Amino acid sequence: MHRETISKDTAPGVTPNLADYDRARAEFTWSQARTALARLPDGGLNIAHEAVDRHAAAGLSDKVALTCVSRGDAVSTVTYGELTRRTARFANLLRSLGVGHGDRVFTLLGRCPELYTAVLGTLKNTSVLCPLFSAFGPDPVEQRLRLGDARVLVTTAALYRRKVADRRASLPGLEHVLIVGPGTEELVGTLSFDGLMSAAPDTFTIPPTSPEDMALLHFTSGTTGAPKGAVHVHEAVVAHYATAASALDLHPEDVYWCTADPGWVTGMSYGIIAPLVHGLTVVVDEGDYDARRWYRILGEQRVSVWYTAPTALRMLMRATPREGPYDLPRSYDLSALRFIASVGEPLNPEAVVWGRDVLGLPVHDNWWQTETGCIMIANFAACEIRPGSMGRPLPGVEATVLKQGEDGRAMVTDGRVTEVDSPDVEGELALRPGWPSMFRGYLHDNERYEASFADGWYLTGDLVRRDADGWYWFVGRADDVIKSAGHLIGPFEVESALMEHAAVAEAGVIGRPDPVAGNIVKAFVSLRPGIEATPDLQRDLLAFARRRLGPAVAPREIAFDQDLPKTRSGKVMRRLLRARELGLPTGDLSTLEGSS
Ligand code: ATP
Ligand code: MG
Repeated sequence: MHRETISKDTAPGVTPNLADYDRARAEFTWSQARTALARLPDGGLNIAHEAVDRHAAAGLSDKVALTCVSRGDAVSTVTYGELTRRTARFANLLRSLGVGHGDRVFTLLGRCPELYTAVLGTLKNTSVLCPLFSAFGPDPVEQRLRLGDARVLVTTAALYRRKVADRRASLPGLEHVLIVGPGTEELVGTLSFDGLMSAAPDTFTIPPTSPEDMALLHFTSGTTGAPKGAVHVHEAVVAHYATAASALDLHPEDVYWCTADPGWVTGMSYGIIAPLVHGLTVVVDEGDYDARRWYRILGEQRVSVWYTAPTALRMLMRATPREGPYDLPRSYDLSALRFIASVGEPLNPEAVVWGRDVLGLPVHDNWWQTETGCIMIANFAACEIRPGSMGRPLPGVEATVLKQGEDGRAMVTDGRVTEVDSPDVEGELALRPGWPSMFRGYLHDNERYEASFADGWYLTGDLVRRDADGWYWFVGRADDVIKSAGHLIGPFEVESALMEHAAVAEAGVIGRPDPVAGNIVKAFVSLRPGIEATPDLQRDLLAFARRRLGPAVAPREIAFDQDLPKTRSGKVMRRLLRARELGLPTGDLSTLEGSS
């Protein structure tokens, strides 16, 4: 692991000074955030009121809330005033359909302005919003609509035709399908979103909303098994607001871009809710990943804060290696950019340093889960970055490392757990429940929910180390960790070492059973463009890894695979690499990229 830090000398905008860091920690506590939000007149708390209406009421009606870049590069804007009216229309539309408090409204849409309208209008109506990823195939869509008790679906004609129409008969609870854009006429049993919107009144009084009312349903990424439906409530907005300030350094004057798909929790919490609650301008890109397009948007939209993911950064790294040339990023004016953060998977140290060299800013990694609803641990704005580390717990977050049992998870004896008290000892990451955006349950699976807690802690399923200064280092998911010849090996450490080799673009590491060692480490590696997979390169990579990691941890086998299996949110699916390698059943593949 890299133990170097990135200080102010090498990274503009990063303060290495711990006094500042502690000051930042002392700010933005949950209670301060709670006080800063404007309650509904009856004292209730509603996410959509915080994200939209209160800004319009405070004189920000003309400020641009959304800058939308279409696939064809047309740019359009939506002000806070307009968003207030559109979301009011949508809330009225739902009400006119008899859809009310607690009813489930699903979206199956790409990033488009109508998505923002549907999400926030649903929350205004105190119905529950569940976003689906638009690239899901018919099976995962049906599975989630059924599991989540969908009553309304907002989608487009093309997506409906391809993914839902055939299954409609088996989803009797799905009463209303609203089609955004043209095409309703040819589709039996659907309604026109645009038609109903224009007929609906553009003012709406948000009904009393309790902070504990269910607001969002999010399915997990399905990296470790079948996706789980995590339930979140309106109070989560307190955490979105506070953590966007402390971990992402959001300020009202920022132009902010979150590249996560709105079908995942990041795209919702930090793509829609948090930035709007901060009253800033959000860039909404309808297009797909493309290095040139992304650099262009960063430059032309004057993006100042950018929240992305390791998989996206690795794609940019392929297009613009650290060794240069930097022509592509340099052909755009990126001078407004002042803060970059990443989430979703471990961020290889190489990517942090790449950011510093190529974009002039290091990347701030942070850690959280669908279940936590907000960023929990971060290399946050005012603290130094330790490349390869997830950072430190945010203000108000109490984290610990629990001693492991045989299975790699926290050891629970007579209902009690033991905290690791020395630095750098591996164990399961646990969090003290009670933060505002904590999930309130897994839908229809209370047993699983209860099993996530022990002795007053929420058990995350992730293994970490905490260094002597309190920075957390990701080791792996408990399910992915490899036991080899008496060592516990985190796949991330091995993958990061391989990625430092000039030929390697990405890596996925698993344990393969071995009669002597228990398991041996096997790596699957994809190569940078133009590099040929040869036995010489294989030998070179093995030797390179052995020099970096030592023989106990280095992979014993390396295979080339230009098409590493990933979840649709971009995480390497090690369980699938392992299942394929061992000829085991592949399990739930609903979130596998490229599947349908
Ligand atoms: P499932 O729970 O269905 O298996 P998932 O855990 O991938 O899927 P998410 O809630 O989307 O679903 O992802 C959270 C997980 O992603 C974390 O538990 C952790 O394993 C990983 N993760 C997120 N951010 C980071 C990070 N910065 N460093 C390392 N791992 C991270
Ligand atoms: Mg998980």
